[in-house]
Amino acid sequence: MQFPDSIAHLIQFDYPLAQHLWLGIGGPARYYAEPTSRSELIELVRWASQEGVPVRVLGGGSNLIARESGVDGLVISMAAGPLCELSTDANRLTAGGGAKLSHVVTHAVSAALAGLEHLLGIPGTVGGALVSNAGAGGRDIGSVTEKIEILSRDGSVKSIGSDEAQFSHRRSDLGGDVILSATFRLEKSDLESLTKRMQKLWIIRNSSQLPGVSKIAMPFVDPGGVTTQRLLADIGLAGTREGGVSLSAEQPNLLVATETATSNDCLRLIERVRQQVLLQTGIDLQSNLQIW
Ligand SMILES: Cc1cc2nc3c(=O)[nH]c(=O)nc-3n(C[C@H](O)[C@H](O)[C@H](O)COP(=O)(O)OP(=O)(O)OC[C@H]3O[C@@H](n4cnc5c(N)ncnc54)[C@H](O)[C@@H]3O)c2cc1C
Repeated sequence: MQFPDSIAHLIQFDYPLAQHLWLGIGGPARYYAEPTSRSELIELVRWASQEGVPVRVLGGGSNLIARESGVDGLVISMAAGPLCELSTDANRLTAGGGAKLSHVVTHAVSAALAGLEHLLGIPGTVGGALVSNAGAGGRDIGSVTEKIEILSRDGSVKSIGSDEAQFSHRRSDLGGDVILSATFRLEKSDLESLTKRMQKLWIIRNSSQLPGVSKIAMPFVDPGGVTTQRLLADIGLAGTREGGVSLSAEQPNLLVATETATSNDCLRLIERVRQQVLLQTGIDLQSNLQIW
């Protein structure tokens, strides 16, 4: 494989992805790059397109399972500073696709802009959150998104409105391309009351964290009408185990991996739970996780 001089230094081979994924498991990426600027990112995507190499974008790695066999393509990390920049203009906030949600929320609140606080405590980045239309407390990121800047696989950059992103419950039409940035339309608010609201939301969110657990994922989308946590607890699936992974006994909507866990264990557990729920309730739980 030939790499142009301008990007050759960025590419790493058979790169272990597990270290970047919340579950901490999974195989290597054939090619991996962490571009340090927008122009490097664009060049990488253009090169991959010309060479027919599939591209995958890595955000915070909180919603991903990588198979043990690894990813046969180029994985691009959005972690570099220039891809995570934040700025505000009147009641609008623009965030790079790699910006952490926690940074976006605190930036908005410190600028007295309301509308993103409900995302507080959700792990991940702007790009990942837009792909899954992440949300909590009945509000999702799509509801405040005005426009999204997209890098297409041919290397062209365009801006689309939120209607084109087709946001629905934990879904969007985004994901085939690279999300470079997004602009959110927020509401001017009183700084003191907004800060208090954020602190309150933070306390509520923190009280639902699993103490001492680090390798974790949220495998299912709430089906509507009932939370996955309630549903799985009610039908006795809390604590269900498959190899090195199990549903949390306290919060069965969370999947917890041990040191011996494999991606196959995760996939088997998810499928077993899905089948059980379907059998016992007729509800077909949808996966929240992207599988690479
Ligand atoms: C403990 C825990 C709690 C959670 N709580 C919630 C919750 O309350 N509500 C909720 O909605 N979700 C929740 N999630 C799920 C998850 O945090 C969100 O979906 C999150 O926004 C994913 O972002 P990420 O950057 O980690 O995405 P990643 O896991 O890195 O990627 C997920 C998908 O997005 C794509 N992607 C990422 N960045 C880009 C980009 N810039 N351009 C194009 N595609 C991109 C990836 O290619 C992949 O397909 C939770 C997860 C965990 C582990």
